[in-house]
Amino acid sequence: MKKVKINKDLCIGCGSCIAEAQNSMEFDSDGKANCIAEMDDNIAESIKNNCPVNAIEIG
Ligand code: SF4
Repeated sequence: MKKVKINKDLCIGCGSCIAEAQNSMEFDSDGKANCIAEMDDNIAESIKNNCPVNAIEIG
């Protein structure tokens, strides 16, 4: 299980990571992604790879 960090300067709020990791990610008040809980390692890897602006770091 892993948490991820979002680079808020890069995140464009596309929602891809939130759709894929619904129980672990949510939009924060400024419309950017926020990690609220750990997720399976493979999901963390997947949302990192699918972020269009490389805003997700694992750990
Ligand atoms: S996939 Fe990337 S750009 Fe889209 S909401 Fe998540 S962190 Fe932001």
